Amino acid sequence: MFEKGYVDEGYVRVSGEELFSFIVRVLLKLGVLEEHAKIVADNLLMADLRGIESHGVQRLKRYVDGILSGGININPRIEILREGPSYALIDGDEGLGQVVSQRAMSLAIEKAKDSGIGVVAVRNSNHYGIAGYYALMAAREGMIGISMTNSRPLVAPTGGVEHFLGTNPIALAAPTKDKPFLLDMATSVVPIGKLEVYRRKNKPIPEGWAIDAGGNLTRDVEAVFNEGALLPLGGLGELFGGHKGYGLSLMVDILSGILSGGTWSRHVKNTNERKSEVDHFFMAINIEAFTPLEEFKERMTKMIDEIKSSKKHPDFDRIWIHGEKGFLTQETRLKIGIPIYKKVLKELDEIADKIGVDRIGGV
Ligand code: NDP
Repeated sequence: MFEKGYVDEGYVRVSGEELFSFIVRVLLKLGVLEEHAKIVADNLLMADLRGIESHGVQRLKRYVDGILSGGININPRIEILREGPSYALIDGDEGLGQVVSQRAMSLAIEKAKDSGIGVVAVRNSNHYGIAGYYALMAAREGMIGISMTNSRPLVAPTGGVEHFLGTNPIALAAPTKDKPFLLDMATSVVPIGKLEVYRRKNKPIPEGWAIDAGGNLTRDVEAVFNEGALLPLGGLGELFGGHKGYGLSLMVDILSGILSGGTWSRHVKNTNERKSEVDHFFMAINIEAFTPLEEFKERMTKMIDEIKSSKKHPDFDRIWIHGEKGFLTQETRLKIGIPIYKKVLKELDEIADKIGVDRIGGV
């Protein structure tokens, strides 16, 4: 059974159902509508099932803090500000990012059914979790789905030391004859959630992920949180393409923030502050409008098979395709449960006690 990520004795297994119902009862207790609570729970659960520990239930505390501080609006008036047959602009009214984004991608898919393509830009939202969640919504409808979001500044531009850019993820999903292709990635070497995982474990981060305030590569997590910065995809300088990750990050800011009339990462705030001003971009491409869907799936599958059966590097026993590790991890975790790090579990117990709901496991 394959499992992505690192799991040791510091983890406790929790079933997906237990995790889902815990997240829902916490959000319900805070006044979130049931329908909305389930969307957020589904998004966090998908991250944990797919082995994306950085964006699973460990994020719940931030959303709870955001709701309690008034930074997140639990009754948003999500409004379509502009609209045409193939596009729309939405104001998220500071709602939970997952709720706003689910609505926006659904609209993009509806438009693509009629017009061949649907593009929806969103401003004034909040952290939306994993980008791939929304791209997969389109792939399930036989479409190519694209999803992006800006996020608070943590990444230094190539040649700089200040954190100006978000970790601004990009996802693209496309159907195949088997599981969809799913590229879902931060445009920084790693998302900040991975540093939070290392911080909880008191472990030094690998060299190449981040710099300290003076611009030196550092393995010290605290130095990064303390005025340091993450590096764009490709790392420090231009040698390994740091400037390309920097450019991809700006692409996300342009499509999500500037196009929507929102803002760019430099000005994005934490979820527990009013007007955190997170912006998103969604696109659905109706494959049938371009080429028969079955032919597309066959060609996708052939391309993937060709890549996977090509000659392996001596240090690797297989070639993976994007999304594959996540789907295999999901299969495993649906059977044996999701590993939750003990410090995260303690944090979840504290949330339960603070707001007065049953802990995970019902105690
Ligand atoms: P990873 O580096 O874990 O994975 C990036 C992509 O590469 C995935 O599609 C993954 O597929 C694929 N992949 C992994 N290994 C291989 C391989 N050997 N060959 C081919 N493909 C491979 O992602 P990140 O750490 O960059 O991002 C994690 C998550 O964080 C994402 O879901 C992202 O959306 C989210 N995020 C959210 C932010 C926000 O503000 N909301 C900000 C930044 C990131 P697979 O899933 O199958 O492993």
